[in-house]
Amino acid sequence: MLPDIRSQNRDTLAAQFASWNQPAYRLDQLLGWLYARRAASWDEMSNLPKALRAQLVAIYSLNLPLLVTKQGSRDTTQKFLWRLADGALIESVLIPANPALYGEASDRHTLCISTQVGCAYGCRFCASGLDGFKRNLAPHEISGQILAIERWADSSAERGTRSAEPAPSASGTPRSPLPAPRSDDRVVNNIVVMGMGEPMANYDNLMTALRTLNAPWGGGIGARRITISTSGLAPRIRDLANDPLQFRLAISLHGATDEVREKIMPVNRKYPLRDLTAACEYYVTHKGKMITLEYILIAGVNDSLAQTRPLADLAHRLHAKVNLIPYNTVEGLPWSRPDDETCEAFAGALEHEGVTATLRREKGHDIDAACGQLRLKTEKAEANSEDAKTQS
Ligand code: SAH
Ligand code: SF4
Repeated sequence: MLPDIRSQNRDTLAAQFASWNQPAYRLDQLLGWLYARRAASWDEMSNLPKALRAQLVAIYSLNLPLLVTKQGSRDTTQKFLWRLADGALIESVLIPANPALYGEASDRHTLCISTQVGCAYGCRFCASGLDGFKRNLAPHEISGQILAIERWADSSAERGTRSAEPAPSASGTPRSPLPAPRSDDRVVNNIVVMGMGEPMANYDNLMTALRTLNAPWGGGIGARRITISTSGLAPRIRDLANDPLQFRLAISLHGATDEVREKIMPVNRKYPLRDLTAACEYYVTHKGKMITLEYILIAGVNDSLAQTRPLADLAHRLHAKVNLIPYNTVEGLPWSRPDDETCEAFAGALEHEGVTATLRREKGHDIDAACGQLRLKTEKAEANSEDAKTQS
């Protein structure tokens, strides 16, 4: 398969265009099609000369994820299941802004994106790792989740009022490139890298995708509006600390002692809390930025009040806030969420220790919003229908 054009960075494309003796404005036109208009086919790029399009087609492919199913409605959490060019399935979750909380316009959204097909890290509570690891997503498959959703939103009857795209010039004459939408002007204005997969295990492709989305020609989503969540790959946390861009970091902690963490997160054997904490300290001092500790509350596993003291110590040491999330049950797994009083008591004990803690009511509980669940169900259903076909 040819490399996808959206997995190329601007410098590579500029060098390619220079070798074809193309004037600089042609590259801007191309980038306008790729990132401002989120083109799904070469044919749409009507102001690029046919000969240039033929040259591009010969060396690059152009694919956006294809929508398989969508759950949820416009005003609630919506979950998208995508099929990639090789047939693999991935998920993204679109979460509406809460204007009352953050003062955002109500048509703005946070998008939770996937970075791998499956996950090799095998956290015991998580649906994403249940079927093991299949492959890394390429940069265009990571950024493509945002572009495909915005394309869908533009064409969606649900939104109704969004204006149609201006008709491009068919003459092929030079015209000024379309500006990419500003991040305060787009449907997705926050990104959390918390979907399927361990983002730090696909670091280079993730960074290529995020740099593109952050660049003025690629969409201009501010780095501060992009949060990367990791189960704790300490060396990559240090790499992120050394990166000039100001992406935010969230740590999936889920246990404040090695004993508890090891029970549910095998990654803790490779990077125990001592290493993870040191890497986080490095990030915090290098970036001068606050990190978030994510803590899923799982009944009988990590919800005892005895965990709140070591958790508070860690939060103080890292100047971190704590996000408490009641566990979202996964079909086939034995874990459950604690009752509301236990969750409230846990949050209260942390606050008593002087920690900034939020208890998040998981959005989208009813639509399998926890990562990996919709894909697993669909794969099972597809496997069943394949079985049915071969048996008939
Ligand atoms: N691999 C990365 C990012 C993807 S997981 C990581 O682990 O951080 C995103 C978040 O969802 C993690 O905090 C993960 O622990 C959490 N999660 C996984 N399964 C969950 C479930 N069933 N209920 C609630 N949160 C879950
Ligand atoms: Fe992978 Fe994150 Fe799920 Fe752990 S929680 S299995 S690292 S996706």
